[in-house]
Amino acid sequence: MNEVLNISGLTKRYGTLYAIKNLSFKIEKGTVYGILGPNGSGKTTTLSIIMGIIHADSGNFKWFGKDPDHRTYKNIGSLIETPSFYPYLSLYKNLKIITEIKELPSNEIDRVLGLTNLLARKHSQHITLSLGMKQRLGIAAAMLGNPEVMVLDEPTNGLDPEGIAEVRKLIIKEAEAGKTIILASHILDEVEKVCSHVAILKKGKVLRSGKVHELLKNDEMVKITSSKAKELHEALVRGGWQKNIEMNGNEILLSLAEGKTPGELNEFAFKNGFVLDKIEIIKQSLESQFLEIIK
Ligand code: ATP
Repeated sequence: MNEVLNISGLTKRYGTLYAIKNLSFKIEKGTVYGILGPNGSGKTTTLSIIMGIIHADSGNFKWFGKDPDHRTYKNIGSLIETPSFYPYLSLYKNLKIITEIKELPSNEIDRVLGLTNLLARKHSQHITLSLGMKQRLGIAAAMLGNPEVMVLDEPTNGLDPEGIAEVRKLIIKEAEAGKTIILASHILDEVEKVCSHVAILKKGKVLRSGKVHELLKNDEMVKITSSKAKELHEALVRGGWQKNIEMNGNEILLSLAEGKTPGELNEFAFKNGFVLDKIEIIKQSLESQFLEIIK
């Protein structure tokens, strides 16, 4: 069974506001799946529904090909919103409570504290931890029982650069160990660095989904200036050179079709009698592509 999660037509409304609307996507085993979107796009709502915390108004989801029941969530660790721990209990005692509820062996505690680099603080009170350590403890708690899947909502929120790097490293390590990770984030850079797949949400709808390197690859734009821009524009469109093309006066701006290079375009123009006054390659940043998508 390669399909871990299949979400189909999920909708959740608060009054007249659709937090998510007809949301569908699939997550395969072994992927790090990013749910990327600006604030309020429905990420937490989606994760809360798939974790059984809140109910959808319509649509459904299947974990491991089945409707979820009480056993399903034993194999899924989650960190949704800020993790809540007892501030005056030690890390060990906090995790002990969870292992008892989940009926897990207590040697799991040292294992997850080791993986999250918190073993040295095992007997410290929770209140004495830094924000980054608290977040890592949240992830440690999600790792108890060595679940196949982890669901993490904005796991680097509020952390300093060092804390962010530690948490990302931890996620990548878990993914390398074969875990499936579902991660909500509003940071494009994070998704690019950590995720293999992404669904981009805006106002509760999936705008795009697929492999990160295919969706967010560095697109090159080519800007050409020619006194015969109109004729050249027509020749380029006829020859299928463009993914997108725009003309403005004697300037043409295009993103090249798959497999075409600026060098080949230059040669094509020359062979067809077009003199190019200028040819420029403009790199479009991932950030600007993302902003373009969610605009
Ligand atoms: P953020 O990154 O800010 O957490 P998000 O992408 O996780 O945002 P959600 O928290 O899922 O987005 O919220 C989606 C929409 O649903 C927002 O407009 C939010 O205000 C609304 N919403 C969420 N929970 C409730 C609630 N309990 N009552 C009313 N509206 C809600």
